[in-house]
Amino acid sequence: MKKIRVTQTTMPDMKAFTDELLDIWKSSHLTNMGEKHEKLASQLNDFLDTDHLTLFTNGHLALESVIAALNLTGEVITTPFTFASTTHAIVRNGCVPVFCDIDPDTYTMDPTQIEKLITDKTSAIVPVHVYGTVCDVEAIERIARKHNLKVIYDAAHAFGVTVNGRGIGTFGDASMFSFHATKVFNTIEGGGVTYSDPTLSKALDCMKNFGITGTETVESIGFNAKMNEFQAAMGLVNLPNYERDRAKREAIVTAYNDRLQNLPGVKLMTKQVGVRSNYAYYPVVFEGEGWDRDAVADWLASHDIYVRKYFYPLVNDFDCYKSVYSSRFTPVARRLASQVVTLPLYSELALEDVDRICGLIEAVSPHQLKREESTQAYTV
Ligand SMILES: *Cc1c(COP(=O)(O)O)cnc(C)c1O
Repeated sequence: MKKIRVTQTTMPDMKAFTDELLDIWKSSHLTNMGEKHEKLASQLNDFLDTDHLTLFTNGHLALESVIAALNLTGEVITTPFTFASTTHAIVRNGCVPVFCDIDPDTYTMDPTQIEKLITDKTSAIVPVHVYGTVCDVEAIERIARKHNLKVIYDAAHAFGVTVNGRGIGTFGDASMFSFHATKVFNTIEGGGVTYSDPTLSKALDCMKNFGITGTETVESIGFNAKMNEFQAAMGLVNLPNYERDRAKREAIVTAYNDRLQNLPGVKLMTKQVGVRSNYAYYPVVFEGEGWDRDAVADWLASHDIYVRKYFYPLVNDFDCYKSVYSSRFTPVARRLASQVVTLPLYSELALEDVDRICGLIEAVSPHQLKREESTQAYTV
C-alpha cells in the first residue's frame, strides 16, 4: 500500500521553473535581492493585498527579524498551541514568552485571557492564526491599543486568507508568513513579513543583511536571512497555481466534512463568517468518551497513513521550556493537544484516499465498536 503522509508538496510545471533558471544563468545573479527577488516581493505584496512586504530566506528568521526590528523587550504574550518557531523567535530576541490559553473553538489565542497576563514589562502580543484560522483580530487590537502593545501575527499557516475581503497580513503591526515546502504556497524554504509602517522596511532589510546599510556602513548587529534567486524563482512559478490548488484542497475538505461531521465525539473546524479559507490543514479533535487520539493515529499508521499530532507536545511542555513553564496553566490548549490530529491534506490527495481514511476512522469509532460488540453478543 502506498504511504500517505500528512502533506506533500505540489510540484509546479518543471519547464516553467527551468525557464526561470535560464534567466538566472544569464544574469549570473544568484542572491542579494536580484531581479527574481524583487519581482516576487512585488507580486506577493499585491497578492496578499498588503502595504509592504519584505522577503526572507525562511519564515522563522522573518519572525526573529521583525521582533528585533520592532525593538521588543521584556515580556511577550503568545500561545503555546503552535510550532516551535513562534516561541523560539521571542526567546532568541531576549524576550520572555508569557503563554496565554486558547479559545476552545478556534484554537487561537483567547482574548479574554490576555489582559490578566499584561504587566508593566509586556511589550507585545504574538498570536498565531493556527491552521489558517483567523484570530480574534478585533479584540486583540482593542487590548493592544489600550495597553500600548505591539501585535505581530504568526501567519505562517494563513497565506492567502482574507477577512471580509481584507488580506490577513494587514492586521496588527506586522505578520509573518512562511513559504516552506510544506505550506500552501512555497519558495522551497522562504518567508516574508508584511506591515503597514513604511519605516520598518529599512530595519528589516538591514536585519536580513548583516546590518549593512551602505558599502562602508554597518548600522546594526544583523544576520543573514536573504531569500536567494532560486527560491524566488520557485515562488514565481508557484504563485499562479495558488487558486487551482486551493480549489482542490477545498474539495478534499468538503469530502472529509461529509464523512466525518456526523461521527459522534469528533469535532471538526467550523467555518468562520467572512473568512476565505486557504484550507491549509484539516484538524480533527477526538473529544468524545471512548476515543483515543493516539490509538487512532497508530491505527492509521498501521495502514500506512501518517497523520500528525499537530500540536503535541505544547511548546510550554518542550524539554527546553518545561523547567520554567507548564501546560497546566493553559488547560484548554493542554486538552486539545491530547485530542487533536491533522489528517492528510494536499492538493494531489485523491478523494478515494479521503474515503479510505474516513472509513478507517469510522471503523475505530467507540460508537461503531460498541455496536459490533452488541451484534456479536446477539449472534452468540
Ligand atoms: C512553518 C511555521 C513557522 C516557521 O516557518 P519556516 O518557514 O519553516 O521557518 C513558524 N510558525 C508556524 C506556526 C509554522 O507553522
